[in-house]
Amino acid sequence: MNYRHAYHAGNFADVVKHAVLARIVEYLKRKEKPFRVIDTHAGIGFYDLASEEAGKTGEWRDGIGKVTGTKLRAEAQALLAPYLDAVRAVNDAEDLVHYPGSPMIVRHLLRRQDRLTAIELHPRDAASLKARFEGDIQTRVIELDGWLALGGHLPPKEKRGLVLVDPPFEEGGEFQRLVDGLVRAHRRWPGGIYALWYPIKDRRAVAAFHAALSEAGIPRVLDIAFDIRPAASVPRLDGSGMVVVNPPFTLEAELKVLLPELHRLLALEPGSKWSLRWLAGEKADA
Ligand code: SAM
Repeated sequence: MNYRHAYHAGNFADVVKHAVLARIVEYLKRKEKPFRVIDTHAGIGFYDLASEEAGKTGEWRDGIGKVTGTKLRAEAQALLAPYLDAVRAVNDAEDLVHYPGSPMIVRHLLRRQDRLTAIELHPRDAASLKARFEGDIQTRVIELDGWLALGGHLPPKEKRGLVLVDPPFEEGGEFQRLVDGLVRAHRRWPGGIYALWYPIKDRRAVAAFHAALSEAGIPRVLDIAFDIRPAASVPRLDGSGMVVVNPPFTLEAELKVLLPELHRLLALEPGSKWSLRWLAGEKADA
């Protein structure tokens, strides 16, 4: 377990992932009934953009650094507001010095009746996440293998909510683990919303992942792919994606407004694209 999110916090992939995450949480808040968010690979929840790690890659400068302080078209700006509000909440004034991870973003958006379960396997990261949420009765932090949570923790007693699966992709087999984990989880809780993050680096692996999901027998699967540069001859991180199972009915239309605006800001090379595609359900693309 060598992966350290501190090197990547706030990069383009975090921006897209967290903007989608915030839209799903906002949708869940449309009904009074409580919901739960289960974050299976939670990280430490809070990142210092002036740290040695963040400085080494400087990735956040091409991510959240380009988004705050830039005016988007009004409709896109309104859709991004809950996410940007969560970013603002961990910074003083208008300065951008810290970046919130997924558990802090979700926690910022929860109402009093809602709950968060944040799972992290790395003992040091789990300890700092526990310290961050100490005394918070709405948040439960568990040191555990997040893949196990896709079995025993589902369905949550609220019977409404979202499972975010955001593995580090530092070992082989992560795409297969995502498919298997999703199938297992969906069998236990077919009505849950699932958001799975993946890197666009090895395009053949991504195509096989999409094919496996199309054939998994899960009825509604929306894929979001966001490239910042066209495919290269050597593997490198060209983009990131998210698969959303049971997406809120509002999500596709919202992302058609939001993604082009984010792409305009975050794409590094001409010729790169974003796409929204149904892998199953709705009008599934072949
Ligand atoms: N979701 C976080 C966010 O958006 O701010 C970032 C998570 S980072 C990409 C992946 C995290 O998963 C790392 O903190 C890593 O320590 C943790 N991790 C790795 N293997 C894990 C496992 N089997 N179960 C739970 N956490 C794991």
